[in-house]
Parts: sequence; C-alpha cells; structure tokens
Amino acid sequence: MRKLITVEEAESQVRDVVADFGTEQVPIADCAGRILRQSVSAERDLPPFDRVMMDGIAIDHASWRSGRRDFLIRGEAPAGKPRLSLTDPGGCIEVMTGAVLPDGCNSVIPVERIALIDDHARLETGYQPKAEQFIHKGGSDHRSGSRLLDPGTRLTGPEAAIAAAAGLSRLTVSTLPEIGVVSIGDELVEPGETVLDHQIRRSNDYGIEAAIRSRQAGTVTRVFVNDDRDNMLRVIGERLEISGALVLSGGVSMGRYDHVPDVLEALGIELIFHKVSQRPGRPMWFGCSRDGKPVFALPGNPVSAIVCLSRYVLPALESGMGLGEQPARWASLADDVSFTPELTLFLPVRIRSTSDATLVAEPRSPNTSGDFASLAGTDGFVELPRGQQEFSSGFVARFWPW
Ligand code: AMP
Ligand code: MG
Repeated sequence: MRKLITVEEAESQVRDVVADFGTEQVPIADCAGRILRQSVSAERDLPPFDRVMMDGIAIDHASWRSGRRDFLIRGEAPAGKPRLSLTDPGGCIEVMTGAVLPDGCNSVIPVERIALIDDHARLETGYQPKAEQFIHKGGSDHRSGSRLLDPGTRLTGPEAAIAAAAGLSRLTVSTLPEIGVVSIGDELVEPGETVLDHQIRRSNDYGIEAAIRSRQAGTVTRVFVNDDRDNMLRVIGERLEISGALVLSGGVSMGRYDHVPDVLEALGIELIFHKVSQRPGRPMWFGCSRDGKPVFALPGNPVSAIVCLSRYVLPALESGMGLGEQPARWASLADDVSFTPELTLFLPVRIRSTSDATLVAEPRSPNTSGDFASLAGTDGFVELPRGQQEFSSGFVARFWPW
C-alpha cells in the first residue's frame, strides 16, 4: 500500500501544479474583490495642491501677528475653482473645504472662529491661529509617480478608491478561472425535485459554488453525473475541455462504484496524489491534465468536501490568480481536544476574539463527516497536527476560514 502523504506535502504538490490563470482588463466599476495584476502609481502629487481643510477664511499669518483681527473679504474660493491670489495682505479670502489655498495665504481660520459682519470677517476674541493650520500641503502624502498599489492585492474599497484617484478607468486583474464543478452519485437529487427515502439531496455542488464565488476565486458551472463509468468519462471529459480547473465530489473512495480515479486516469489526467493523512477528507484525489489543468476530486461526504475545498482548492485558485502570500492565521483552542489517529485533524470551529486580542476557536465537532448541518455558524476549521493526541485548551492552531 502506498504511504499516505502529509497535508503539507499535498499542499505543496497542489501549488506546484496550479499555474497562472492569466489576466484581463476590467472597468474600475467592476473591480470589486478581483486581484490586481498591475502596479498603481500616483498620477500627481497627493494632494495635488495646498488643500484647504476647513470652511472659513484664509489669511496671511503675518498680518495677524502684526495685530490685525478684522479682515476685509477680498474673494471667495470654493472647491473646484482655480487658485486665487490675496494681493491685499490685510484682507482675507473666504475658503471652503477642498479649495485650493489662495496665493498669499498661509493660515486657515475655521468659520466657527469668526463673525461675518458685512464684507468683513472678525476673529473671536483671544483666538490664536497658527501659521500653516488647516492646510493639507501639496505632495505631503505622496509624490507624483510613487507606488500606491502592488500587483497581487485584492481590490476592496480603499484599493478601488486609490486606483480611481490615480486616474485609472480600467484595471488589469486576474482572469477568473472557469471552474467545472461536477457532483457524482446515483443517490443525488436536485433541490426542488422530489426526493425518495433512499435518496440524498445534492448539496456539495451548491456549497462549492458558493464558496468559490464568495471568495471571487472563479466562475462556476455545475454538472451532475451518475455512477455510470461511461457516462462519467464523457461528462468529465467535456467539462475538462471547457474549464480551467475541475472540482469533483463523490466517487473517489474504494467502493465498487467509485469510478472517479479510474475515469480520470483514462482521461489522461496524471495522478499526483490519492489519499492524504487527514480527517476528514482522507480519500482526496488530485491530478493534472496534459494541458496543465488541475483536477481536484474531493470525497462526497459534505464536511470532507468543504474542508478540502477550503484547505487546498481555494488557496490554490487564489495563488493561480496571483494573490500575494496570505499570512497564516492562528487561533487558541477553547477546549481540550483528544484525537488518537495518526492523521491531521481539521476541526470545525467558531471564532471569537477576546479583549486581550486573541482569537479563540470554539470546537464545533460534527458527529460524522456526513453531519454538515452542524457547520452552521462555524467560521472555518483549525488544523491540529498529526502525531499529537492531546491538545489542551489554549493550544495555538492554524485557522482556515471557509
Ligand atoms: P462518496 O464519496 O461518493 O462515497 O460519497 C460519500 C457520501 O457523501 C455519501 O453518503 C454520498 O451520498 C454523499 N455525497 C456525495 N456527493 C454528494 C453531494 N454532491 N451532495 C451531498 N452529499 C453527497
Ligand atoms: Mg458515491
């Protein structure tokens, strides 16, 4: 019997196979959640000019120092208007937040500190403005041309705003790989259809699709195939043609109708590993097509399928999309756990964060790898290393989100 490979070996073999899925351009309005594949640099100095930070008046501070407290209003500078100039050093210009600081001014006094009397602004008694106050100096945040975003960044709110501020209307992002999700089993029945006593609802494929889509890790097409070998050969073969990667569930164990490993090899998919020393998910099969497409064949048990997806498939898809290395996340076990088999244990948990900034993982152990309803309310799982049987509460384990 072939020796089971470890979780770490399986992970690195998956990474060696999954290649870059390529890039495409998208309008900036459609970039949410995508992986940026270009760098973004400042189009101009940021801010691009001396920016007024308060509604009020702008003055020459020297005139206040020389004793002036009442300033004749010489003009108005709203945001979006070209720079004005204060030629009368004893006067002031009414300014609005976002306006260009007028030439000849070097201090902004908030509107709350002045009284407007006809065409004059009078300072509140005793108010002492500082030179340069409420002025956001041009170029003080970033210089024109400086790097603001690196390739490999996921585009969330701040990154989208930064790219827009750099003037980019289109962005180069990773192509979303087309993932063929194939569920396999004679017993499976689609939600919405009548289910007989001996049948099982087909749930894995919907779970897999939702997980891939909610991580923006690909686009998904779902197909179903029964346990018939020829049919499997045809359907999986067709999917392989049109997909960038396949995620199968079911039919990878040792039962008489578990044709998947055999069918995949008949399709010319090179076996990289079959079976990993882990629970759940031990029967997982992984291979690579002749043209380099990864094929993940996950066990049908719903907990196994979703755990293997989160542990291997999603990180591999994200790395194929050029997402930068993600820092490991760690959590401290809330309870003692004992586990005797010589396998890595993936234990579903609920995560909470404590006031001393620790992530605590509360085990929510399913009764069996079929008990996926117990995953409701969990956030992911912790990875408890092989070769240790007792894990005391407080044990720090690697956490993997769903
Ligand atoms: P298998 O890996 O084919 O031996 O399946 C193991 C268990 O998972 C069986 O009880 C199957 O009925 C169940 N199963 C397989 N595929 C699915 C699926 N797509 N959705 C829900 N359960 C499944
Ligand atoms: Mg089956």
